[in-house]
Amino acid sequence: MKILRKIQGHDLSEKYLIELDDQNTVEAIYMCDPERTLTFSSTLCVSSQAGCAVGCAFCATGRQGFARSLEEKEIVGQVLLAVKDGGKKRMPLEAVVFAGMGEPLYNMENVTAAMLSLRDELGISRHELATAGVAPKIGEMARFSRETGIMIRLNLSLHAPTDEKRAQLIPLTARYDIKTLLNAAEEYAHMTGATVRVRYMLIRGLNDSEEDARALIRRLRGRPFKLILSGYNDNGIAGLEPVSRADIEAFYNRVKGEIPCGIFRSFGAEIAGGCGQLRRIYCENKRDGVEIW
Ligand code: SF4
Repeated sequence: MKILRKIQGHDLSEKYLIELDDQNTVEAIYMCDPERTLTFSSTLCVSSQAGCAVGCAFCATGRQGFARSLEEKEIVGQVLLAVKDGGKKRMPLEAVVFAGMGEPLYNMENVTAAMLSLRDELGISRHELATAGVAPKIGEMARFSRETGIMIRLNLSLHAPTDEKRAQLIPLTARYDIKTLLNAAEEYAHMTGATVRVRYMLIRGLNDSEEDARALIRRLRGRPFKLILSGYNDNGIAGLEPVSRADIEAFYNRVKGEIPCGIFRSFGAEIAGGCGQLRRIYCENKRDGVEIW
């Protein structure tokens, strides 16, 4: 496998398009926070699958279909390539974030094997993992974390306060409803002792109303969660409209006195930071015979 393209952001983030040995491509993004305002100041977000079968409505990767799950060595390989590329000018990686292309809980065996290798070979034993919500696997991941001592901060993509609205964004909701998911996430928090981050991406007119905020508070209040708000990163997907920074802050002000909450600091927006965007541009240009992008 090799780095096919690299784009540098103004905020020190760097996005990689990586070609696997079978010519499938995946993305990884290095994120750096030299002011140390975040828990981890130097992370790499990696892909766990080439493409994704979950098909979230807002996601460029979900729209590209599913190729295959990555092997353990291909997940670790993304880290090795990025570490080698960054050289000594970068801070050492403090954590690996499993929030790139793919649903990591649908590739549990290789993801957990990669976490063990990262600990044993590179000394990295802290991770974040984002899931669209595969309820039974959340418990399995909690047991893995407890048995190995590897810290995995779970990020659950909720994005809507009702099953009806969430199903419009995340088709998996038909299999695992919000109640089931939040119960699984609460169990995860109790088993690992770590607060679960509940991710909520605001989309204009879909999940950003006063009523949505009240419904969200009812769902989350009193549970071991921290709500993390962000805005939909405009991928040009029909029917979805971004909100402004002021809208995010207004929603934050509605919920902040009721439940623990914060606003997501996004990296790499100007370098196609959203999952799957860089790969989509590359694949479209390749299909059209365009080399420069
Ligand atoms: S958001 Fe994640 S789970 Fe959903 S389609 Fe994109 S890669 Fe898959």
